[in-house]
Amino acid sequence: MPKIISYRKGKGIKRTTSMRVVKRFRWSMAHRLTHGYQGHCASLHGHEYEVEVTVAGEMDAMGLAVDFADIKRACLGWIKEHLDHTTIVCSEDAALLDFLRRENQRHYVVDFNTTAENLATHLREVLQKELNRLLDRPLSVTHIRLLETPSSWVEVT
Ligand SMILES: [Zn+2]
Repeated sequence: MPKIISYRKGKGIKRTTSMRVVKRFRWSMAHRLTHGYQGHCASLHGHEYEVEVTVAGEMDAMGLAVDFADIKRACLGWIKEHLDHTTIVCSEDAALLDFLRRENQRHYVVDFNTTAENLATHLREVLQKELNRLLDRPLSVTHIRLLETPSSWVEVT
């Protein structure tokens, strides 16, 4: 049964207690596709990435599922520390990894080809861990929309 919260005198307003809260974040990052990929994206290039993170939680007595500021602290904090103004590089891309290390360039090493699909899946995992680590309420990352350009994105649920 959905919980009834009355906030207008004399009128009960039926609300569902489960809520989805969405925040968007942007960062700049370089990458190139590997694993035999032959198109333009095999050359090192950058994107102004944008991610839309959907978090599901239960509403509290205050009417909050989660404070937008808390999602920002957890998600943008992790993104700025690990991804912003870096090159994301697959551990199998030895030539690029050597260059980045030799030139002391910020980089983030992953064990997958750096497609938007793989990155969105990775973001769902790491951002869920950050929310669990930093916030004291049960929240679930239910949806990630990752944009490489304003007209190109992937979604993982
Ligand atoms: Zn790209």
